[in-house]
Amino acid sequence: MSKQLILALSKGRILEETLPLLADAGIEPAEDLGKSRKLLFDTNLEDVKLVVIRATDVPTYVQMGAADLGVAGKDVLLEHGAEGLYEPLDLEIAGCRLMTAGITGAVPVHARRRVATKFVNVARRYYAEQGIQAEVIKLYGAMELAPLMNLADEIVDIVDTGNTLRANGMEPRELIADISTRLVVNKASMTMKHARLKPLIGRLRDAVATRRGAPAGE
Ligand code: AMP
Repeated sequence: MSKQLILALSKGRILEETLPLLADAGIEPAEDLGKSRKLLFDTNLEDVKLVVIRATDVPTYVQMGAADLGVAGKDVLLEHGAEGLYEPLDLEIAGCRLMTAGITGAVPVHARRRVATKFVNVARRYYAEQGIQAEVIKLYGAMELAPLMNLADEIVDIVDTGNTLRANGMEPRELIADISTRLVVNKASMTMKHARLKPLIGRLRDAVATRRGAPAGE
């Protein structure tokens, strides 16, 4: 195993909140991530490199050991499953809710409720737990369109302000899970590179605690 630590970051909204937190923890990319088309970056720490990838790919990279650590939304982790991963730290950024939603005031028309989502595993689990028969339809984006087009009775999606739902005549319904961004670590790396990982995780933990106003090391 190489001595280097690879940290996989989720692109997009989460990245914008991750970079300031990393900076607070003393980890800074050697160049501006936003201005580069590169995917692999050096940092100010000689043995730490960053990869910037799709959020849904982060658990796979870390699980397979291609990256030692990763930053991923709990939504993505719930959908992917936690095999081969430790989740030592809630980074307390990019908070949102995973919810069911539907057209405001509408009741399901299909006997077997049709649910459109990109979170198919989460949705199947959730409706089974509720004892509701559901046909889960995989979509890759624009979930809000599915009920409007009669493709689905409901969606399972991320809700932050609720503006996207409201703009499409929809309402949030049941809360499935509160979501925030987590640090995940490859299980083998945690053992093999423990001496190097422990202080790095400690710096991130202190940065999170400082933001929360708690004394570092709590
Ligand atoms: P909102 O209109 O504020 O409720 O935001 C909802 C949309 O923004 C969702 O459809 C998500 O795709 C996206 N979104 C909001 N917060 C997050 C987050 N923390 N992580 C990933 N996507 C998010």
